[in-house]
Amino acid sequence: MLFHSSLRQKITFAYLIVAALILAVSLFTFESLKRVEARILQSERISALFETAMEIRRFERNYFLHAQAADLAENASYIDRLQGMLSDGRAGFAQLDSTGKIEELGELTGKYRQLIAVYVNTPVNDPQRSTREQQVRATGKDLVSITETLVQTERQLLQSSLATFRITLVFIVVGLAVFMIALGQALSRRVAQPLQQLEDNVEAISAGSRDTLLPPSQDREIVSITLAFNHMLKELEVRQKHLLRSEKLASLGTLLSGVAHELNNPLSNIWSSCQLMQEELNDADPAYQQTLLAQIDEQCERARHIVSSLQDFARERHFSRETFPLRQMLEQTLRFLKAGVPSHVSVTLEVADSLSLHADRQRMQQVFLNLIQNALDAIPNSGSIVIAAHLRKSTEVTDEFPADCEVKGDTIDITLRDSGSGMSTECLARIFDPFFTTKDVGHGMGLGLFIVYQIIEEHEGCISASSVEGQGTTFFIRLPLAVTPTGTQNV
Ligand code: ADP
Repeated sequence: MLFHSSLRQKITFAYLIVAALILAVSLFTFESLKRVEARILQSERISALFETAMEIRRFERNYFLHAQAADLAENASYIDRLQGMLSDGRAGFAQLDSTGKIEELGELTGKYRQLIAVYVNTPVNDPQRSTREQQVRATGKDLVSITETLVQTERQLLQSSLATFRITLVFIVVGLAVFMIALGQALSRRVAQPLQQLEDNVEAISAGSRDTLLPPSQDREIVSITLAFNHMLKELEVRQKHLLRSEKLASLGTLLSGVAHELNNPLSNIWSSCQLMQEELNDADPAYQQTLLAQIDEQCERARHIVSSLQDFARERHFSRETFPLRQMLEQTLRFLKAGVPSHVSVTLEVADSLSLHADRQRMQQVFLNLIQNALDAIPNSGSIVIAAHLRKSTEVTDEFPADCEVKGDTIDITLRDSGSGMSTECLARIFDPFFTTKDVGHGMGLGLFIVYQIIEEHEGCISASSVEGQGTTFFIRLPLAVTPTGTQNV
């Protein structure tokens, strides 16, 4: 497969650019600092020229005042030093000497040396002596003034070098900041954004709004993660199907053994009644025969009832949702109850008229028929049944529902509470199993809650129960709030 780019390449490229930039800036700064350092050295040498010229003048003045040979010697040695400095630093001074000042200083030092020599050789009473002294003094003054000019020029050059260095540094810092921001944005666009999009796509899959992952960019890593993820999704789907199939087979087995067991009772009753009939066909009195036939009829009816309940469960009835008011449906269900609600039981509906369900109405009716019938069975004497429902926002934190009853998003929460006999923990753990019943033969088949469970699952909801022996039972049903075509629920 051909990949256009990779996240790794992009990050490495950005890293190399930053490294090259840092190297270039470091080299440039190093060079600039070297130049400033050279300037400072130059400036020190120029200052030394000025100080030497000042010393020459000092010993010249002393000599004119005291006529001491030592002062003359010192003066001569400083002249030597100045000339030495000029010849040593000629190359370095060249760039500074734009106005020919260094050249002039060299010539003037030579001239000064000659003038001093001429003065020293002039006899004391010679009328020329004073004129020559004036010439020496004037030339010495020029020496100092030239070196002073050089010091000032050098200082200006140093200051302008420092200013340039400062401005360049500011430009570098600003430029670097702008570049880093641009680089950060480019990296975010080319690296972070595809990753963020990938995360969103994975979330869309886990929320169920999509079933395959689309690569948000053609980067090698993103494409291979996407491929691996899609492969994993397919594998999961296959395994889930296997699991479902084996679970279905297991529950079918349980169901069949239960059916066999349930049918066995009426069949053996029918069989024994038939045996008796055959044995006493001619001798038995018609009344006894009538009783036996009635028993056969009753047991046939029982077997038929078992089969028809199972048919009801097994039949692939078309599942169709509609929106209907919950309270109205519950009232109708109460009217459907075979023997009606006995007078010793009070039934209270705490359900707002405006609260609607978007569900398969017939199946929901079956759920409440089974639950209410069970509650009535659990109330031998007087008692109460309270059915309450409300809309629960997904943001609500606290609720009385058991932790195992979890449905995503906003839900309709229904509780059915009875003050009946309640049940033991062992019994509670098995109530949703097929054919689990504690009722007498002929009164319960143990399929009611099994069917209720399947129906709630079909609606992507959950059901749970809590019970205390002797104090009653509560069933909790949580159904996802489906949005009706005309808008959201209002309660
Ligand atoms: P059936 O009603 O035919 O026995 P169900 O599946 O409806 O089958 O119920 C299974 C068992 O759960 C019942 O036999 C009973 O022991 C227990 N049960 C169900 N609902 C209640 C209730 N409201 N109070 C006490 N026990 C209950």
